[in-house]
Amino acid sequence: MRKSYKEWAIEESDSLRQDIVNLSRAIHGKPELGMREYYASQLLGDFLEQQRFEVIRGFCGIPTAFFARFKSGEGPVIALLSEYDALPELGHACGHNLIGSASVGAAVAVSRVLSQLKGTVVVMGTPAEETNGAKVLMVEAGAFTGIDAAMMFHPGDSNAVEISSLAMEALEFTFWGKAVHAAACPQLGINALEALILFFNGVNSLRQHLRDDVFIHGIIVDGGNSPNVIPERASAQFYIRARQQNQLEMARERIKTCAEGAAAMIGARVEWRNFEFSYQSMISNPTLAGLFRENLKLLGVRDLAGPREAMGSIDMGNVSQVVPSIHPYLALNGKFVPHSREFANVAGSEIGEAVMMTAAKAMACTAIDLYLQPELAVKARAELQRRVGKGL
Ligand SMILES: [Zn+2]
Repeated sequence: MRKSYKEWAIEESDSLRQDIVNLSRAIHGKPELGMREYYASQLLGDFLEQQRFEVIRGFCGIPTAFFARFKSGEGPVIALLSEYDALPELGHACGHNLIGSASVGAAVAVSRVLSQLKGTVVVMGTPAEETNGAKVLMVEAGAFTGIDAAMMFHPGDSNAVEISSLAMEALEFTFWGKAVHAAACPQLGINALEALILFFNGVNSLRQHLRDDVFIHGIIVDGGNSPNVIPERASAQFYIRARQQNQLEMARERIKTCAEGAAAMIGARVEWRNFEFSYQSMISNPTLAGLFRENLKLLGVRDLAGPREAMGSIDMGNVSQVVPSIHPYLALNGKFVPHSREFANVAGSEIGEAVMMTAAKAMACTAIDLYLQPELAVKARAELQRRVGKGL
C-alpha cells in the first residue's frame, strides 16, 4: 500500500530524531538569555542551511533572530516558530530548547515531503520570549506578511491545544512637580510624590468598576530623593492585563484619566510611556487547533484537555492577531510547572525529548493538512478576521 504524506512526514521526523535531540541538548547545555542567544540561533540556522533552507540571519534587525525558508511552488506558507532563550539562574526552565528544536525538526521533515506537494515552510527564530519578546517587533516589522498559518508548541503541565493568554500593556507614569526645601518654603513647591500616591488611590477606587478579568499591578520606581526636598519627580510602573483587547484598552484609558486627575489635584504634570512591549491576547485558531488535535490523536496522545485560560501573557499573542496561529501545550510529565528547577531538568531529559518529537510530528502533519487542503488556510484566515473585527 502506498504510504500517506503524513506517514512519510512522520518517518522523516523519526529519521531526523538524533539530529533534533542533539540540537536540543546542545541548547539546553548552554543556556543564553533573551537577545543574547548567539549560540542557539547560529546552531539552528546552520542546521537549516545544511538541510537546503535559505537562511537570513539577523532578521528584522535583531541579531539573534533568523528566517529560514524552503519553497516548492505556489501553495500555503506555513511558519513554525522557534524560541531558544533561557532564564537567569534556572537555565532552560521553560523548555525553549525543546520548542526551538521541535520547530526546526518539523520544518526539515516537511521540506522533504514538499518535493511532492506545493507550498512553503518557514522557520522563524524568535528571540527573547521571556523578556522583551521579539515577536512583537517582528510583527510590527511586517515579518508575518504573506504567512498563512503560524504554530509552535510549548512544554507544559498538561496537553492543551487551545489556549488563551492575557493582553498586557506596560505603562510608566511620571509626575512632575516643583522641588523646594521641604520645611523652609513648602508653599512654593509641588509634590510629585503626593500626586503619585493620589494616583494609586484613584486606581484602587477604579478597580470596583472593572471586570474581574482585568488585572492592574503597579510599583513605585521613583518617589523622590530626600525627605528634605519636595519631590519634583515621582514615577510608577504598571502592568495592565485583560483577557480581551477591548477591555484592556478601556481600562488603560480610565487609568490615564486617574493619572490626569491626580496630577490636577496637586498642580503637577503627568506623562506616560510604554516601558516594555505590549503583548496582545492569544487567539487560538479553531481550524488549526482542530487539525493539530486530530494529529495528536493520530500519534497516540490520549489525555487531551479542553480549551485552557492562561493567566500569563505571551508574545505569540501578537502573532495570533495577524496570522491564524496556535500555541499548544504538551505535558512534559504532569508533575512540574515551568520556571522551576525540576522543569529545567526534565527539559534536558529523554522525557522532554519524547514530547519534543511528538510535537514535531504533530506540527509536520498539521502543515501537510494545509498543503493538501489549502482551503483550510483560507477558512482559518476568515475565522481570524471575524474575531479581530469584534475587537476580542
Ligand atoms: Zn516559555
